[in-house]
Amino acid sequence: MTTTETTTDAFRSEVRSWLEANCPPEMRQPVRDEDDACWGGRNFVFKSEAQRIWLERMGAKGWTAPEWPAEYGGGGLSRDESKILRQEMQALKCRSPLLSFGIWMLGPALLKYGSEEQKRTHLPKIVRGEIRWCQGYSEPNAGSDLASLQTHAEDGGDHFLVNGQKIWTSYADKADWIFCLVRTDRDAKKHTGISFVLFDMQTPGVSTRPITLISGKSPFCETFFDNVKVPKANLVGQLNGGWEIAKYLLTHEREMIGAIGDRTVSRPLGQLAASWIGTDGNGKLDDPVLRAQIAMFEVDEMAFRLTMERTVDLARHGKGNPAFSSALKYYGAELNKRRYELMMSAGGANALEWESDRSRDGELARTWLRTKGNSIEGGTSEVQLNVIAKRILGLPGA
Ligand SMILES: Cc1cc2nc3c(=O)[nH]c(=O)nc-3n(C[C@H](O)[C@H](O)[C@H](O)COP(=O)(O)OP(=O)(O)OC[C@H]3O[C@@H](n4cnc5c(N)ncnc54)[C@H](O)[C@@H]3O)c2cc1C
Repeated sequence: MTTTETTTDAFRSEVRSWLEANCPPEMRQPVRDEDDACWGGRNFVFKSEAQRIWLERMGAKGWTAPEWPAEYGGGGLSRDESKILRQEMQALKCRSPLLSFGIWMLGPALLKYGSEEQKRTHLPKIVRGEIRWCQGYSEPNAGSDLASLQTHAEDGGDHFLVNGQKIWTSYADKADWIFCLVRTDRDAKKHTGISFVLFDMQTPGVSTRPITLISGKSPFCETFFDNVKVPKANLVGQLNGGWEIAKYLLTHEREMIGAIGDRTVSRPLGQLAASWIGTDGNGKLDDPVLRAQIAMFEVDEMAFRLTMERTVDLARHGKGNPAFSSALKYYGAELNKRRYELMMSAGGANALEWESDRSRDGELARTWLRTKGNSIEGGTSEVQLNVIAKRILGLPGA
């Protein structure tokens, strides 16, 4: 056995022992839906003491953001160590202690473009789940064509005065802070007059109005800015240089959304379907057509998981293509939609129950409807296919 293998094995057993001792049993149950998960933040109400303890312990170790540098509160782990942590968490069925736009999106952008002071101020609070962030990108006339955004930030000396409107801002009514794209030069070409700023959602002049989704839930809002004073110290990167940061952050958002295609922690689809439909005398799912569809799905799911691993390895060796996040986003979103279509088929008419204790208030039906948004959020499937065509396949643009 080589020294590297010995070190890796030692780290694995250390991680496993720590998780066994510190992850409460309640946090080894699958998360039922977005409401059952921990999002952290100033106003978050923990669903249980176990949820609070799990976040506190993982946050203190920096393992909510395992690869971020320890000096900013992260775990300081290498990619290999972080992979081991992920594998051990999956093996013990540990839940993710924290769902966070700060970890998935803002953090990577701050690590690359933020000032030292911005990193020290914001990253540790993200790691510990103390501050919840939302994303102020889309506007009523700027979705796929994001660079057309019109929210304006006027130079007020030591601050910007922000006016305008965002839309589809996920959890804006629950978030503490927003990372926001604003126009700081109206005369420049549309991509070059944009800046990336951060501000507290409690700043006077910020208001939100929830939008109800097809699922009956309201996970996002219209967000309005009326003379909002934002200190210039909250500008990330260069003035008018926000587009580069916006794009970098989007690659992380797309990888995050793509990862919903990989559901290693929850029960395999075949087992779930068997619990509803039953099995035949040979222990096989008692519906041959659905059985074949689930088998095809599980093969594709496994191939997707391996593709994600390969993407990480290629990036690590400097051979990755940044546009590949579009391929992961596209395929992961389609896979997740397929997963829930199959669950609905397996559940039959019962799966459509909307308001009852038995269905936990239509949990499955509402989650199925929520997946429809997967191919819109973070850039639509059509837009991802355009990116793949141009930047990966090298096809000419329209
Ligand atoms: C669940 C969910 C959560 C979201 N959360 C956030 C958030 O937190 N923050 C935020 O800022 N935004 C958020 N969004 C908004 C999301 O980013 C936009 O909805 C998305 O970028 C599409 O923009 P749009 O809705 O304006 O559609 P449009 O851009 O108007 O597109 C309409 C249709 O035209 C198609 N289309 C547009 N341009 C092209 C093209 N060039 N080629 C081919 N087809 C094209 C699109 O694919 C789509 O089918 C969220 C959206 C959803 C569904």
